Amino acid sequence: VAQPVLQNGQVIGVLRFRTSISRMQAWNAAILRENAAIVMLFLLIAVPLTALLTHRATARVRVLTDVSRNIADGKLDTAIDTSGEGEMADLSRSMARMVKSLSENAAEIRALTFSDQLTGLPNRAQLQLRLETALEGMTDPVDRVALLLVDIVRFQRVNDALGQDRGDLLLRSFAIRLSEAVEDWREAEARTDGAAFEAVATRLSADEFGIMLAGGLTERDLDAVVRRIMRGVAEPFELDGHVLDLSVCIGIAIAPNDGDSFATLMDNAGIALQSAKKAGRGTHRYFAPELDERAYRRLVLESDLRQALERDEFEVFFQPQVTCSDGRAIGAEALVRWRHPERGVVSPAEFIPIAEESGLIVEIGARVIRQVCEHGARWAERGIAPRLSLNVSAVQFHQPDFSREVLQAILDTGVDPRLIELEVTESVAMGDPATVASLMAPLREAGVRFAIDDFGTGYSSLSTLTRLPFDVLKIDRSFVTEIDLGDPERRVLLATMIGMAKGLGLDVIAEGVERVEEWSFLKDFECTHAQGYLFARPMPAAVFEPWFIAHRRHNARLLQGRLREALAGLPRAAHL
Ligand code: C2E
Ligand code: MG
Ligand code: MG
Repeated sequence: VAQPVLQNGQVIGVLRFRTSISRMQAWNAAILRENAAIVMLFLLIAVPLTALLTHRATARVRVLTDVSRNIADGKLDTAIDTSGEGEMADLSRSMARMVKSLSENAAEIRALTFSDQLTGLPNRAQLQLRLETALEGMTDPVDRVALLLVDIVRFQRVNDALGQDRGDLLLRSFAIRLSEAVEDWREAEARTDGAAFEAVATRLSADEFGIMLAGGLTERDLDAVVRRIMRGVAEPFELDGHVLDLSVCIGIAIAPNDGDSFATLMDNAGIALQSAKKAGRGTHRYFAPELDERAYRRLVLESDLRQALERDEFEVFFQPQVTCSDGRAIGAEALVRWRHPERGVVSPAEFIPIAEESGLIVEIGARVIRQVCEHGARWAERGIAPRLSLNVSAVQFHQPDFSREVLQAILDTGVDPRLIELEVTESVAMGDPATVASLMAPLREAGVRFAIDDFGTGYSSLSTLTRLPFDVLKIDRSFVTEIDLGDPERRVLLATMIGMAKGLGLDVIAEGVERVEEWSFLKDFECTHAQGYLFARPMPAAVFEPWFIAHRRHNARLLQGRLREALAGLPRAAHL
């Protein structure tokens, strides 16, 4: 290596250094080694020390991080160390408070989600959860999961009569009885048969309860639980000095036969319940596929009826009523028809029962009342005034607004109320006489008349009949049909009914007169009015109007008959 030596910018000499390359490398290596050793020593001491210090400083933060991770995962039972002083200890304490209130809230939410507030029983959500778990757990071929729907018969009426608060109390007592009955059954089965069943009673809606049973259930077990429930609720309930009898209906669906999901079991137990309700209070029914089919048809018809109301497909037909003596037209019975877009005219016999069950009869009935009053008012304007009777279902009659609705329709249309007659069946008429009379009163005061329809088919007592202010008795078709052919006792029966009604000052209309012979007997018995295919079938308003005009003074058919009789009696020559 040569290096020039300078002085005042002048080269004054040269410095020369000479060594071997290998010695130079050796020196470099030695310096590197020395530096590396120093660095290593420093790292060996500093890194663990820093780590240790950091670890100690962040220990509580880590604990709190774990806690928040647990909270996020829904685990609220993690313990938090709240001892000590300083910022971290404060943070731990706030966190502990937060976790406590969170877990309290969570418990409350769980209670709200899975139990019924009024009775404290598990609710529908819990029933679903338990049932689905039980369904998944069905491994043995003898395993069954049963769903029982328990409905309190006419609870709404109790509620209306006693008030909401007492109704609530009653539901609580009922819930206790029900869950006790189920629990007693479970324990008894375990004691006698050693059978371990799962059983839970839940509340589903106002007066509907659901019971899930799971295990190796047989029909005998289910009958036993039903008996216990029935017995449990049969004892009268005492409430503020009132003694109340409740009864229930039960519908039962059993997995796997009747369904393997919560939804199908609920549907099918519901269908079974409907069938039990129809059979009357205190009954239970197992689901059967035929029930499903019937329920399906019913459901279809019910939704069709709703649509029919929307599309205004109901039309009133009129079947003339005549005086018995000479067949003069005096009025008509309004009979509803459904003009179905595909099926044509549907008879009320087909849809009225379903309309009654579903409550749609109230709306259908309201339209009938309107239509009848409108036709009545229009006919009066044209100088004819047929008496118009219309059918009122029990459901409709007991609507709190019923009389208001009828009076309003009369007022709006301007029809003469004395021309309107309401037909109720014997079963309605024979309900509590005081209630029936009070429902009739405002209408009767306005001049509306009342008729008992289908008389003779119910079980009315004569004394009740005399106490109620009816104007007309309609004798059911079954007493009139073939009265000329039947045995003498039937004739006595018919004659007695007519005599009794007349004695009470009522008009008597014989229904379903189809043959001249029947009419002739009715005339002999001094029946006042008649209605039937012999005179005319039910017809649309536009057809009824000219018919009525033609028949209000005399009956053409009757006159023809008389003329024919007269002709037959004349000597042949005169006839010619
Ligand atoms: P109902 O009130 O006893 O009406 C008489 C029924 O007998 C009518 O049947 C009528 O067409 C039929 N009928 C009349 N004369 C004869 C006859 O000579 N022979 C035979 N075999 N039958 C005759 P429809 O119109 O099918 O009504 C059936 C039932 O439906 C009615 O019986 C009534 O209970 C109910 N209904 C009809 N319209 C209404 C309505 O607007 N509201 C309510 N709630 N029920 C109605
Ligand atoms: Mg009728
Ligand atoms: Mg009738």
